[in-house]
Amino acid sequence: MIGDSKKFKIKDTDDENGNKLTQHHKILLHKYTNISLQDASIEFLQLIRRSQISKINANQILLFIKRLLPCPNTAPSNMTNLLNYLNIFNYFTTRKICILCRKDLKHYQAKCNDCLMAECKHVAHILDTDILSLLTCVVSRLADQIQKYKDSFSNNTYQQPYDIPFAKQYQQLLIKYPEQNLLSLILHVDGASLVKSTKLKLWLFTASIVELPPNIRMKRQNMILISMYIGYTEPDVKLWLASSLTTINNLKKKGITDSY
Ligand SMILES: [Zn+2]
Repeated sequence: MIGDSKKFKIKDTDDENGNKLTQHHKILLHKYTNISLQDASIEFLQLIRRSQISKINANQILLFIKRLLPCPNTAPSNMTNLLNYLNIFNYFTTRKICILCRKDLKHYQAKCNDCLMAECKHVAHILDTDILSLLTCVVSRLADQIQKYKDSFSNNTYQQPYDIPFAKQYQQLLIKYPEQNLLSLILHVDGASLVKSTKLKLWLFTASIVELPPNIRMKRQNMILISMYIGYTEPDVKLWLASSLTTINNLKKKGITDSY
């Protein structure tokens, strides 16, 4: 449970982002066109996502397009620049580990050099997210709905059957400590096969926010993605989740408003 002393009031980055995008909308790709940098960037991003092109190939295509355009031009030369233009923040930190010796590998290593038996299938990829930023983003967007749902408990107007364990105790907690703006997470771990031909699997560690009404709580856009694990064997939970759980525990102590 993550405590938050006053409000889910977050720094209003939406307006800032909106202003930046408006500015970008006025920037043209080059002086012989009416196509804006923003429109071209969004269209390119949608195209590569639909085509499932890798980042390396997308970088090469962007560079190729930039070279074809008249000079000077504002076309981004790589995906990092393009995402920066669109204010799309990279929430992921990636790491590679050898599941035999549990050591971190360099990003260019296809397998562990220290383990004699090591093969590519002994490498696992872990993508940890910036939990605070994601949580802040979701809670900020849904602050009104969270507050209304909590008010319905306090005012005793919530008549639906309980949908979480210890719901009655939780309601009592809200009523007893109305000044404590509590936020609670239910943590989930799920695995899914990525391809039929191999045993490669994707594991997700996610969180749902208890203070959201049940009808929107499990919607994908309202879930917090905490970490992903991609590997050929079942993940070692300590190896995979230790750092994420430490971050969550620190958030639990600090609350989420302290950083803003
Ligand atoms: Zn190793």
